[in-house]
Amino acid sequence: MPPAAPLLLQPLDEPAAAARGIRLLLLRDDLTHSELPGNKWRKLKYNLQAAREQGHDKLLTFGGAYSNHIAAVAAAGRLSGLRTIGIIRGEELAHRPLNATLTRARADGMQLRFVSREAYQRRHESGWVAELQQDFGPAYVLPEGGSNALALPGCAELLTELRTRTSFDYVAVACGTGGTLAGLVTGLLPPETAVGIAALREGELLRAEVQRLLGNESASSNWVLHSGFHHGGYARFSAGLLDFIRQFQARHGVLLDPVYTGKLLWGVLQLLEQDYFRPGSTLVAVHTGGLQGWAGFRQRFGKRSAWWPTEAAR
Ligand SMILES: *Cc1c(COP(=O)(O)O)cnc(C)c1O
Repeated sequence: MPPAAPLLLQPLDEPAAAARGIRLLLLRDDLTHSELPGNKWRKLKYNLQAAREQGHDKLLTFGGAYSNHIAAVAAAGRLSGLRTIGIIRGEELAHRPLNATLTRARADGMQLRFVSREAYQRRHESGWVAELQQDFGPAYVLPEGGSNALALPGCAELLTELRTRTSFDYVAVACGTGGTLAGLVTGLLPPETAVGIAALREGELLRAEVQRLLGNESASSNWVLHSGFHHGGYARFSAGLLDFIRQFQARHGVLLDPVYTGKLLWGVLQLLEQDYFRPGSTLVAVHTGGLQGWAGFRQRFGKRSAWWPTEAAR
């Protein structure tokens, strides 16, 4: 894999932060790895190592048709010489032109298998996974979103790198399956706190999943999950959210993604306004990438908005 670029920390000049003496920084992890941007690379890092150590030449994983994780696994396979298989939710997709995410994944060498939504529900069942392994041959299996125990240390390393650049009180991240938040929590040094912003409606389930990934006995006093900023649910949006993303880009020259980081920054600015963060503190929001998701958004919801980002985004 090509080496990662050094971390870029971008100060965000936002009145809600300045008024409270809070230093607000955007950690541009979307720029760390050009071919595999954001947290998905961090979650894959030690899994790729384990796959090799176990003698695998194939990765098999699961995802929706627009999934950043599917895009990342396909790219990782190409970059590291592993074959990749994507089990994609939705049989009907097999009969349509492939969307941008899947076109790219296939170009990266990923073999795609489309399964019904009902079959996809069984993705955690060892029996079905064993059947898939019979079809495709032995493979290193990654769960949907790439969130497993080995995803955590790669995310924790982000904080080791961050501390070489600045001290901080809060690190904020968008949550889908919770692996990134859990990984950051394992890397915290007290009194640092991790703040998760849920990109989906199911806040309670997500909180339980983060707790499960952390090991149920671990203390949970140094992290929180906010679930009030999902804008209708996973991969859903509001006109207000798109407008916010557009204005954020105009103010800071940074494009956020519509599924995760747009909701993260929206949530962070709302929490700032609500005096949630300690005055005088340093707050680091992580841009976890995900810009490849815009193509799918435009395809699905193009008619519902007059504005879409023009920046070519992967
Ligand atoms: C997957 C993803 C997340 C969420 O990560 P989880 O570990 O699934 O919680 C956040 N941001 C972006 C851009 C992502 O692609």
